[in-house]
Amino acid sequence: GAKTRGKNRCEIFDAGLQERAVDRIAIASALRQGLRDDRFVLHFQPVVDMGTGDTVAVESLVRLDDPDRGLLAPDTFIQVAEDSGLIVPIGTSVLEQACRQLVTWRANGAAPKGMRTAVNLSARQATRPDLAATIERALAETGLEPSGLTLELTETVLMEADAATLRQLERIRELGVGLGIDDFGTGYSSLTYLKRLPVSFVKIDRSFVAGLVTDPSDREIVTAVIRLGQALGLTTIAEGVEEPEQFQMLRALGCDQAQGYLLGRPKAGPPGEITVLRALRAAVS
Ligand code: C2E
Ligand code: MG
Ligand code: MG
Ligand code: MG
Repeated sequence: GAKTRGKNRCEIFDAGLQERAVDRIAIASALRQGLRDDRFVLHFQPVVDMGTGDTVAVESLVRLDDPDRGLLAPDTFIQVAEDSGLIVPIGTSVLEQACRQLVTWRANGAAPKGMRTAVNLSARQATRPDLAATIERALAETGLEPSGLTLELTETVLMEADAATLRQLERIRELGVGLGIDDFGTGYSSLTYLKRLPVSFVKIDRSFVAGLVTDPSDREIVTAVIRLGQALGLTTIAEGVEEPEQFQMLRALGCDQAQGYLLGRPKAGPPGEITVLRALRAAVS
C-alpha cells in the first residue's frame, strides 16, 4: 500500500519495486548515466571442474557503480535495461570488458591459460541480427580466441528463437565460442529444443541445488538433468553450490563443474586458489 511504499521511498532500486513507473524512469536514467560515464563494472566468480579442482572459467557478472547509490546488483536493473533497450550497449561493454580482462590476467599470470570467461546474454541481445558480428568484434578487439568465451542464454530465449536467431547462434558456435543454457529447469524446459539447439553446456539452476541434499524431488531433478546432459554430450554445471555436502553429492552424481559461494563469491579481482577444495578432497579420499 501507499504507506509501505512511503516508508520504502529511498529503496527505489529494490528489485521488488521495479514495477513502479517512477522507479523505472530513475533506474533508466542511472543506466544512461552509467553508460556515459563508463560505470558498469564486472565481478568474476570461479567455475570449478569437479574432477580436477581446476578453475576452468569465471562467470563475468555486471554491476553498476552508481555515484550516489554505490554498487548495484544486476537484479535491480537488468529488467529495466532489457525493456529500455539499454541492455544492448551495456551488454556490448560487458562482453568487451570480460574478454579484455581475461586476456590481461593471462598475460600477467593471474589466470591459467585454459581458463574461459562466461558472459550472460539477455533476450534483447540474443535476438539481434548483428549478434555474431558483435561477438566477433569483441574477440578481435581484445585478442581473445573464440574458445576463451562462453555465452549463457536462458531457456525462454532459446525456445523462442526464430530461424534468424538460430542462424546467429550457429554462426557463433562455428567460431568456437561456447554456448549454453543458464538457470536450466526454471523455464519451459523442453527436451526437443535441447536437441535442436547449438548448445554445449547446461547450468542447473541454484534452486534445485539448494534442495539437493534435503529434498528428494530436487535430488531427482538434478540427477535427471545430469543424466540428460551426459546423454546429449553436454557439460553440466551446477550453480549456487554453498555446502560441502552439495558439492560431494553433485560430484557423485557425475556433474562436471560447480559454481557457488562455497568455491568463491563474485569479486572484482582474478580467481585465486580455492582452498576449500583441499578439505573437500581430503574428505573423500
Ligand atoms: P546468473 O547468470 O544465474 O548468475 C548467477 C548469480 O547467482 C549471480 O548473481 C551470483 O552472484 C549468484 N550466486 C553465485 N553463487 C551463489 C551461491 O552459492 N548462492 C547464491 N544465493 N547465489 C549465488 P548476480 O551477480 O547478482 O547476477 C544475477 C543475475 O543477473 C545473473 O544470474 C544473470 O541472469 C544476470 N546478469 C548478471 N550479469 C549480467 C550481464 O552482464 N548481462 C545480462 N543480460 N544479465 C546479467
Ligand atoms: Mg549466468
Ligand atoms: Mg545462472
Ligand atoms: Mg541464476
